[in-house]
Amino acid sequence: METKVAIIKDIDKDIEYLIEAAKIIHNGGIVAFPTETVYGLGGNALNAKAVEKIFKAKGRPQDNPLIVHVSSKEINYLVSEVPEVAQKLIDKFWPGPLTIILNKKDIIPNETSANLDTIGIRMPNSNIALKLIELSGYPIAAPSANISGRPSPTEVERCIEDLNGKVDYILGGEKSNVGVESTIVDCTVYPPMVLRPGGITLEMLQEVCKGIKIDKAIQGKPDENLRPKAPGMKYRHYAPKAKLKIIKGNKQKTIEKINEIVQNYIENQKEVAILSTDELCSNFNSGKVISLGSEKNLYDVARNLFESLRECDDLNVDVILCQAFDEEGVGLAIMNRLNKASGFDILEV
Ligand code: AMP
Ligand code: MG
Repeated sequence: METKVAIIKDIDKDIEYLIEAAKIIHNGGIVAFPTETVYGLGGNALNAKAVEKIFKAKGRPQDNPLIVHVSSKEINYLVSEVPEVAQKLIDKFWPGPLTIILNKKDIIPNETSANLDTIGIRMPNSNIALKLIELSGYPIAAPSANISGRPSPTEVERCIEDLNGKVDYILGGEKSNVGVESTIVDCTVYPPMVLRPGGITLEMLQEVCKGIKIDKAIQGKPDENLRPKAPGMKYRHYAPKAKLKIIKGNKQKTIEKINEIVQNYIENQKEVAILSTDELCSNFNSGKVISLGSEKNLYDVARNLFESLRECDDLNVDVILCQAFDEEGVGLAIMNRLNKASGFDILEV
């Protein structure tokens, strides 16, 4: 398949590309496009055939449902009910990195929801994404625009790397500002449950509804006997090609342990990359050191996380060592992605 790539520098001047991409979605094709969380791979959420193309292009497991992206807060045509707490969350956080799970109406095909009775819906905070949805005339089902299992793309080059030749159109635009996928809150239960942490933190959600809780599966390694609430929770996700190891402990011990492990690998002729923060980077004696940003601003770390994992793969290293972060605020989302990307390979020191 031939994939057209177009980059939007100015949304008004480059509107022809948006119209072209929107037509493709309108006619059942699939398009990669920017959002503020990560790039998405979108198709008409109401068209089962379009949705099947998304699964095929990504190599995504069939039982992992898609999130439906909308350009307005008016979603009654998609869901059977919007409970009061869901409405409050929508009013406060949309457009933004928050996906709400609600009971779906039949207009949403089972292919989109992976046979669940529920559907995740989000209004992205990206002018390009909002315009694309509006012009296509349909809600857009979109998972992240990567090959299933790989780190999500936050820049258009990474979409091209993964999807060129597999999708109809790749629309480039700004770098994703949040850098990790949306927070998912299940509002079909009370109190609502966070199924995936993201840019809207637990603390922010609890300001709207005190009772909101975190699903246990988010923090620890998933229990193989428990059926996960969100199908996506059970998959190894976000993973670089190199082996990723997380080192968790106080600063001094983390530095010492990383230096020790790097030395061991180097003696065994292995290439190692270290992912750390501005504050710690100068303490490492060898290995390829990449800073994720300052520990004082974990939003920077979130924004740089996936791109840095892909940079490590570009460097062809065998192993990536990454320091752990406090699981507060957006740190919870960062650690959730690192835990999964490493297959829960966490060394406590
Ligand atoms: P991604 O494809 O990376 O955007 O991931 C979408 C995530 O949303 C997956 O982890 C899904 O399991 C989750 N998700 C989407 N729809 C639902 C739903 N109806 N119920 C629970 N989780 C959902
Ligand atoms: Mg994904």
